[in-house]
Amino acid sequence: MRKVVTAKEGVIFDVELEESLLAENRKIALDNRETLKKHNITTVDVMGSIGSGKTSIIELFVEKLKDGKRVAVIEGDLTTTIDSDRIAKHGVEVIQINTGKECHLDANLVKGALEELNLNNLDIIFIENVGNLICPAEFPLGSEKRLVVISVTEGPYMVVKHPFIFMEADVVAINKIELAEPMDVNVSNLEKDVKKINPKAKVVRVSCKKKVGIDKVLSALGFA
Ligand code: MG
Repeated sequence: MRKVVTAKEGVIFDVELEESLLAENRKIALDNRETLKKHNITTVDVMGSIGSGKTSIIELFVEKLKDGKRVAVIEGDLTTTIDSDRIAKHGVEVIQINTGKECHLDANLVKGALEELNLNNLDIIFIENVGNLICPAEFPLGSEKRLVVISVTEGPYMVVKHPFIFMEADVVAINKIELAEPMDVNVSNLEKDVKKINPKAKVVRVSCKKKVGIDKVLSALGFA
């Protein structure tokens, strides 16, 4: 026998966020969007679990785009600079945001990072959010596009279990497709799960390791 207990508002400790805090974040996100628009910069918020391949896909984007476009990257991570060190090797400007204990970036942190960049000299900014499929969904940053990177190694249920992050996604990249068979994961089912939650999202099969599908993701994001 199974009983389901659903958490009600005000019941969960520490998880229910003040609506005023979320409203303030949305306001700053709109300011960021306005600033970026004024400078004609396209910004992509890259979200996904730890190990799904966010940094890898950004590295491949940077390699493909950096000769024709002026690209910068904002890296979110709790305490390390592992990912920003990787990006810096590609010769583009990168700002590291260390969130300490926070499980997501917020618009105010991104506002601070934007102040560190010379926006007159940029066309595209990729923002790697903290590795998490839950928290970043509630905190828009002001980016024009939202990309969610998932990996078949996360199992068959990661989409249906995390609907909120997919609702706001423009593009979903399913990474590590070369491992679908050994992981016993049906990629078509993952695609269907995304489409059920968000019929407008563009879903692209990717292998960062084998450099497959990267151009398709870029064109889905509007960088054709
Ligand atoms: Mg990373």
